Amino acid sequence: MPAKRLGLVFVVCAPSGTGKSTLVRRLCNEFDSLSFSVSATTRAPRPGEADGVDYHFLTRQTFLDWRGTGKLAEWAEVYGNFYGTPVEPVRQALAAGRDVLFDIDVQGAAQLRQSLGAGAYVFVLPPSRAELSRRLSGRGTDSPEVVAGRLAAAPKEIADAPLFDYWVENDDLEAAYADLRAVYMAERRRPRYHPQLLPELLHQWEAAI
Ligand code: ADP
Ligand code: 5GP
Repeated sequence: MPAKRLGLVFVVCAPSGTGKSTLVRRLCNEFDSLSFSVSATTRAPRPGEADGVDYHFLTRQTFLDWRGTGKLAEWAEVYGNFYGTPVEPVRQALAAGRDVLFDIDVQGAAQLRQSLGAGAYVFVLPPSRAELSRRLSGRGTDSPEVVAGRLAAAPKEIADAPLFDYWVENDDLEAAYADLRAVYMAERRRPRYHPQLLPELLHQWEAAI
C-alpha cells in the first residue's frame, strides 16, 4: 500500500559559517516529519560531533568504496574533503512518506536535482562578508587557514544562489528560522505530496449515491 503522503526532498545550502547547521538542526527538532540525511565524509569529526548522527566519518578508502559501489546519491569534494549522501536511507524515508532534509553543498544540490527531481532547494545567505568571517572564526572549530579557505570560497557559492527556489537571509537568527520554517510548511502543502487526498475525499460522494 503506497504511503498516504509522499515525502519531500528539502535541500538547504549555504556558504560555510552562514548558520545553516544551526537552522537545520532546529527545523529537524521541531518537525518529527523531517529526517536529517546523515552524509558520509572524510573530514575529521569536530568536538561534539558523533559518528552516525552528524556524519558517517569514513576513511578516504571507505568513502571511495561507497562511491564505487553506488551507495551515494551524490558526492562532491568540498574544502579538500569528500562528502556524499548515502542513497538507501533516503529512498526508505521518502517511500515511507517522510520528508528528508539535506545539508549539502551546491554541487551536491545540482546532482540531487538530477537524480531525485522535485523538491525544495533553499539557499541561506550571510548578511555580509564581515559577519560571515566573524561566525567562521567565532565557531572556534577550524584553524585560521581553514577559516580563510572557507571565506574565500563563499563568493563562488553565492554566485550559484540564483539556481535555488528560495533564499533565506540569516541576519537575525529568529527571523531566518521563521522564514525557513515558512518555506517548509508551504512546501508540504503542495498537491503533489498528497496524491490520495482528493480521491479519498471525492470517494465519499460516490459512496453516498
Ligand atoms: P554552517 O552550518 O552554515 O557552517 P553554523 O550553524 O555552524 O554554520 O554557524 C556558524 C556560527 O555562527 C555558529 O557559532 C553559530 O552559533 C553562529 N550563528 C548562526 N546563525 C547566527 C546568527 N543569525 N547570528 C549570529 N550568529 C549566528
Ligand atoms: P562541514 O565540513 O562544515 O560540515 O561541511 C562543509 C560543506 O560540505 C557544507 O557546505 C556542507 O553542506 C557540505 N556537505 C555536507 N554533507 C554533504 C554531502 O553529503 N554532499 C555534499 N555534496 N556536500 C555536503
